[in-house]
Amino acid sequence: MNKESFNVSNTSNVSAAVAGLNVHKSYGVRYICASCAAKVTLSRNDPVRCKECGHRVLYKERTRRMVQFEAR
Ligand SMILES: [Zn+2]
Repeated sequence: MNKESFNVSNTSNVSAAVAGLNVHKSYGVRYICASCAAKVTLSRNDPVRCKECGHRVLYKERTRRMVQFEAR
C-alpha cells in the first residue's frame, strides 16, 4: 500500500490541527454557523458567535473538510 503518502497526510492533518490552534489563528479561522450556515471568520480573540444571526454554536470549517476527506 501507499504507506508514505498515508503517513504524510496523517501527520500534516494532526500537526495542522494541533499547531494551527496556536500558530495560524492570528489571521482568523473560518467557521460555519450551526443555525444559518453562514461562513464566519473569527480571529483569535473574537467571541464565538455568528456575525449574521448571532448564534453561538459554530462548526470549524477545516474540521468538517477533514472528516469528509477521511470518509471517502
Ligand atoms: Zn448564523
